[in-house]
Amino acid sequence: MWCYISRLMRISLLEMRRGLDRADAHLDPGALGLPEDVYVSPVHVQAALSPVPGGWRVQFTASVDVLQVCDRCLAEVRGQGGATDACLVLERGDAPVADEEERLLLVDPEQEWVDLEQVVRDALRLALPDYFTCRVDCKGLCNQCGQDLNEGECGCAPPLPDSPFRDLARLRRDAN
Ligand SMILES: [Zn+2]
Ligand SMILES: [Zn+2]
Repeated sequence: MWCYISRLMRISLLEMRRGLDRADAHLDPGALGLPEDVYVSPVHVQAALSPVPGGWRVQFTASVDVLQVCDRCLAEVRGQGGATDACLVLERGDAPVADEEERLLLVDPEQEWVDLEQVVRDALRLALPDYFTCRVDCKGLCNQCGQDLNEGECGCAPPLPDSPFRDLARLRRDAN
């Protein structure tokens, strides 16, 4: 069974109790609380639900186009970002709280929806590296003139290594 939700990553608990096993959604990154200058397409989430004692296990994949800035040369690179994660949705009450590492969402008997927004947001944020380079061997920018060294050498003297002899070396270089 497929359930299409256009804006919020909410799944109907009524449908889940009736045996819903799949959910599919296209979400607005801004509505999910993700920066829209980085996450530049709708977020496509596909979730598979399977019953566990006292609730459900929800496994999901989220994919989105991302625009990242190279930490070395500042080039903007558009690519595909994505995350796969899972959480447990358990009915609050006498259900035993599972001793799992998975994220746990507790729902009350009168609750109509379970909201996966935060789980999806966290998974996508964690999937982006803190340090991003446009390619493995990006040469970065010259720290003296700012030239993009991937496009060619700039003619500045190479930076000197940090050592006690550095000042001496600089003196010799300037004397030449
Ligand atoms: Zn780069
Ligand atoms: Zn330079």
